[in-house]
Amino acid sequence: MLKGKGVSTGIGFGKIVILKNEEKIIEKKTVENPEAEMQKFKQAFNQVVKETEEMVEKLSGTELDIMQAYLMIMQDPSLISETENAITNLKYSAEYAVEVGFNSVIQIFENMDDEYMAARSRDIADIKNRVLSKLFNEETINISKLEENTIIVAKELTTSDTAKLDFKNVSGIITELGGTNSHTSIMARTHAIPAITKVEEATKIFRNGDYVAIDGSLGEIYLNPSEEEKQKLLKLKEKMQKENQELEKFKGLETKTKDGYKVELVANIGTPADVEIVLKNTAEGVGLLRSEFLYMDSENMPTEEEQYNAYKEVAEKMQGKSVIIRTLDVGGDKELKYLKLEKEANPFLGYRAIRLCLDNLNIFKTQLRAILRASHYGNLSIMFPMISSIEELREAKKILEECKTELDNENIPYKKDIKTGIMIEIPSAALISYGLARECDFFSIGTNDLIQYTVAVERGNEKIAKLYTKFHPGVIKLVKEAINGAHDGGIFCGMCGEAAGDDLYIPLLIGLGLDEFSMNSNSILKARKIISNLEKSECEKLAERILMLSSAEEVEKELKKFSQK
Ligand code: PEP
Ligand code: MG
Repeated sequence: MLKGKGVSTGIGFGKIVILKNEEKIIEKKTVENPEAEMQKFKQAFNQVVKETEEMVEKLSGTELDIMQAYLMIMQDPSLISETENAITNLKYSAEYAVEVGFNSVIQIFENMDDEYMAARSRDIADIKNRVLSKLFNEETINISKLEENTIIVAKELTTSDTAKLDFKNVSGIITELGGTNSHTSIMARTHAIPAITKVEEATKIFRNGDYVAIDGSLGEIYLNPSEEEKQKLLKLKEKMQKENQELEKFKGLETKTKDGYKVELVANIGTPADVEIVLKNTAEGVGLLRSEFLYMDSENMPTEEEQYNAYKEVAEKMQGKSVIIRTLDVGGDKELKYLKLEKEANPFLGYRAIRLCLDNLNIFKTQLRAILRASHYGNLSIMFPMISSIEELREAKKILEECKTELDNENIPYKKDIKTGIMIEIPSAALISYGLARECDFFSIGTNDLIQYTVAVERGNEKIAKLYTKFHPGVIKLVKEAINGAHDGGIFCGMCGEAAGDDLYIPLLIGLGLDEFSMNSNSILKARKIISNLEKSECEKLAERILMLSSAEEVEKELKKFSQK
């Protein structure tokens, strides 16, 4: 049995598919026989073309348009003329010729002024990687179409890999790197897929097709499990299923404490497809739509029309229930390949989220217009991420007003009184919450970032993961400050960080007066059950006691004591 760190609970059985996402090192090499190299290259390239043609046959709609454009690039002889030159005239090996030949074409596209053409450079880089994989005899895996019961193994899954995953066929994820609060782990929990990280050398230990069983709670992996081990895990799986069945009785109920204090219990989602899980678990709305997943799931910057369609779909499917759409929050650990951002020494403290949007009004306005237009079809609100000052909020609201005026002039309908709120995820925002609350309609506390900025511990850094804790009294004081600031300004305060769905933390948040809890859809029913067993007055006393403590350890102990009562 192998052991890692469980980051998403559940038991999974299945066959391994290894994703190789390391950069290939291609050495400069010359050859004696360029004809043979040319043949090797042509064979690999033609194979990639053939596979793409087969893919195109199975597609329809936008996907078909995209892949047809992709195929056209491949059919243009100038795509490979540099590579052929490098083989014939410079006698480079096929691999090295592809590297230099394709890179020169990529560079030409990257330097084009036309945004659409510049974005094609990503397609060419993708074609290059596929040809190289053929030359290296690697299997290329289409992660958006997997066989049933696949267990994904990777060094690290990037957030954009995760956005493309064919979740319904994934029964487990094993990675060498990644932390509990990485976006990949959050997505795994949303889709109720068992996931284990910190499994050293996982990509080397396993082979494609190996049969494994995994326990995402304990972080245990059984390669070719014995009958006894299988039975043990199946029993555990049944037990979990039974617990879930028991939660069914909380479906569709109001969320309130024993003494009648009512709160909103809503869900965090990434794409319109997630709405199904939201409705199944009877969440009362969507407290956070992480809109960046729409951007990550695409090869180019999504157009206003594409975004409008996605937001409208969510608005309509949610049938009048509240949906908070957060504007683009990229940067940090969320990369957009087609948005070529400079590498930064401290990306979490850098050019991300609202900072990037206020600096790229084209991107920001396209999204705001799309949200406004979709707001005509449901109960949408807009939320700005990473607000650190009142000036940023004012600037963002000013741009929103400009978009509204544009739509008015174009006679396009939208919800005139659409609510605008902000994420409280930077300590400075929590500390000026009294002022911010007077200029927006709601807050949502983002503990995932608030913790990292309060205790100065990067959220995905496993070496210092012990220091990253929601129980730190400093974090709790900021949460209290944000809630009090909101209430003083007459607005509601929610929380959409992972802490909102934490069994131990929920009583404390009730005691502090939080109005809305937004979490993974799969935690909704359990949270409703926990809340229905609480007395608000007791939670308030608990909060008072907690606020007197000065260490995370003491806080955790006190919360455990309370939950075991
Ligand atoms: C947060 O920071 O708590 C949050 C909800 O946003 P994200 O996890 O997307 O950064
Ligand atoms: Mg955040």
